[in-house]
Amino acid sequence: MSSTNTSGSDIHADVSNLFGFDDPLGPLKVVHVHNPTIGLNGVLVVHNVAAGPAIGGLRMATDVSTMECYRLARAMTYKNAAAGLPHGGGKSVIAADPKMPDAEKEVLIRGFASVLKHEQHYIFGPDMGTNELCMGWVRDEIGRAVGLPAELGGIPLDELGATGFGLYHAIKITLEKEGRSLEGTRVAIQGYGAVGYHVARYLAADGARIVAVSDVDGAIENQDGLDIEALRKVSRSGKSVGDSEDGETMPRDALLGVPCDIWIPAARPDVIHDDNVDQLQAHIVAMGANIPITASAELTLHERGVICLPDFIVNAGGVICGAMEYLDASPTAAFDAIRDRISANTIEILDRSKAEQIPLRAAAIELAEDRIHAAMATRRWRLH
Ligand code: NAD
Repeated sequence: MSSTNTSGSDIHADVSNLFGFDDPLGPLKVVHVHNPTIGLNGVLVVHNVAAGPAIGGLRMATDVSTMECYRLARAMTYKNAAAGLPHGGGKSVIAADPKMPDAEKEVLIRGFASVLKHEQHYIFGPDMGTNELCMGWVRDEIGRAVGLPAELGGIPLDELGATGFGLYHAIKITLEKEGRSLEGTRVAIQGYGAVGYHVARYLAADGARIVAVSDVDGAIENQDGLDIEALRKVSRSGKSVGDSEDGETMPRDALLGVPCDIWIPAARPDVIHDDNVDQLQAHIVAMGANIPITASAELTLHERGVICLPDFIVNAGGVICGAMEYLDASPTAAFDAIRDRISANTIEILDRSKAEQIPLRAAAIELAEDRIHAAMATRRWRLH
């Protein structure tokens, strides 16, 4: 929705042009932060706050951009709305090397947070390049952050596997809708970090067979089932899962063609695309990573009958955990909320997709937009 002011200029259209398309949901606010004295360059995008103050991570990387920040903020609007959280979407980025010493990182993060002290529409969370300690600095500086250290009342979501837990429930409920169970189901997982390892752990505990795993340096396959804890040890020792002797090693990207029932991307964006989509053999793709499949490859898979469980529905465990932490909830209450919300949403999009004969992603977007529009309708200014 564009608005033209009395001088005739269309500021919202300018912003929409900046981001390449007309976005009726936002962004509400784009704030650039620049402090040459400490070498700070950052951006905050508050996308939409109809449902409540935005929650979204602070990303630190050398190649971040305003555009990336906007896309991530917009994705958070959809993820938070779909998860039924009383929060809108936002994201912030600092352009810097995340591997810098903590003392230097602290200066940048405190400097960034202090400039944004009065941006009550935004609650900081961790993301790539930031962690619980960083959120502790933000909380100390301005009082508004989730993903805090346990000593400050935080719930260590990556240690407990919040996102993997949500993914596990989405997969389980999808199989149950088809009258199947996890027992003996073959699973391949790309990425063996916080999301990949924990989803493996929850699935294996419920009878699934993890037949292949990859990380940035390699991959391993064993159709009889991999020992996921042994792989974790190898991974934690600084080696690649491909260095394990538990199965056949293979080139990292060969994981896509491994015979399996469920394929879980839990690493990078755009890993399945038009040029490799035909290699996939699985019946279900459960998106742990954000945007791991290009739009056209996802459509190809849908047309082939592959069930593609959309990222912003099934990988919302981390943000649900953060929102529950913000309410001072216990880890048990947070995990109950993850299970209940992700299971209910997965059922809802499977049902919508079937009833309306539309791809699961279209059903997920409908679900999120219904909730965003309902929240917007309660606001005095309607738009946000
Ligand atoms: P992580 O850094 O803990 O683990 C990433 C893993 O991916 C590592 O094992 C790494 O070696 C591997 N990897 C990197 N590039 C790869 C490649 N090209 N091929 C195969 N493996 C590769 O990260 P994480 O927290 O597990 O997050 C994984 C993905 O899930 C990211 O896209 C992240 O944005 C998304 N995500 C994470 C959470 C969360 O709660 N941590 C929530 C939602 C979405």
